[in-house]
Amino acid sequence: MAAAAAAKAAGKLIVFAAPSGTGKSTIAKRLLAATSNLVFSVSATTRPKRTGETDGVDYFFLSEDEFREHVANGDFLEHEEVYAGRFYGTLKEKIDAALQAGKNLLLDLDVKGAMSIKQHYGERAYLIFIKPPSLEALRERLSARRSETEEMLTKRLERAKFEMSFAEKFDCTITNDDLEKAVEDVREKVNSFIY
Ligand code: ADP
Ligand code: 5GP
Repeated sequence: MAAAAAAKAAGKLIVFAAPSGTGKSTIAKRLLAATSNLVFSVSATTRPKRTGETDGVDYFFLSEDEFREHVANGDFLEHEEVYAGRFYGTLKEKIDAALQAGKNLLLDLDVKGAMSIKQHYGERAYLIFIKPPSLEALRERLSARRSETEEMLTKRLERAKFEMSFAEKFDCTITNDDLEKAVEDVREKVNSFIY
C-alpha cells in the first residue's frame, strides 16, 4: 500500500535528445518557464563551461578525476563519453530525490543516455527527439552560437548523423524549424504526457 502510494506520488521524466546545435536547450528553457512542476535535471560534465553557463544550474562542471570518482562510486544512473574525452552523466541521487518529491523532470541527454533512461523507467519516461530542419541549418546554428572551436564544431556535426539514426526509437519527433511552433508542439506533447 505504501509502495503504491509512493509510486503514485512519484514524478515523471521527459527526455530531450537532439544533434548538438538543434536548439534543444533553447526549447528546454522555454518549456521550463511555461510548465509548472517541471524541473531541469542538472547533469555532470567534464567539458569546459561556456560563457553564460553557471555551475550547478546548467551542469555540475567536474574535473575528469572527480567524474571518474563518481563512476567508481556508482553515483550515475547513466553516463556517456559523448565526445572523445568529454564525459556527461546523470546523478542518481538528484533524480531520485526530485521524483520522490513528486516533481517531473526534464533531462537533456545524448541518444544513448536517453535509451538508458527509457530502459530504466519504461512508461514513466517520455522521449522527445528534436530534429534540425537540415544539416546545413545545424552547421549555421552551431557557428552562430560561437561556443565551439573549429575542431569541436566538426566533431559535433559528425556525431549529428549518428544521433539522427536514433530518431525512430523515440516516443515522438519534433522538427525545430520555426522556434515558436517547435515550442508549442513540445508543450502539447509534454502536457498530454504529464497531465
Ligand atoms: P542545443 O542545445 O541543441 O545544442 P541551442 O539551444 O544552444 O542548441 O541552440 C543553438 C543555436 O541555435 C543558438 O544560438 C540558438 O539561439 C539557435 N536556435 C535555436 N532554435 C532556433 C531556430 N528555430 N531557428 C534558428 N536558430 C535557432
Ligand atoms: P553540450 O556540451 O552541448 O551541453 O552537450 C553535448 C551532449 O551531451 C548533448 O547531446 C547533451 O544532451 C548531452 N548530455 C548532457 N548531459 C548528459 C548526461 O547527463 N548524460 C548523457 N548521456 N548525455 C548528456
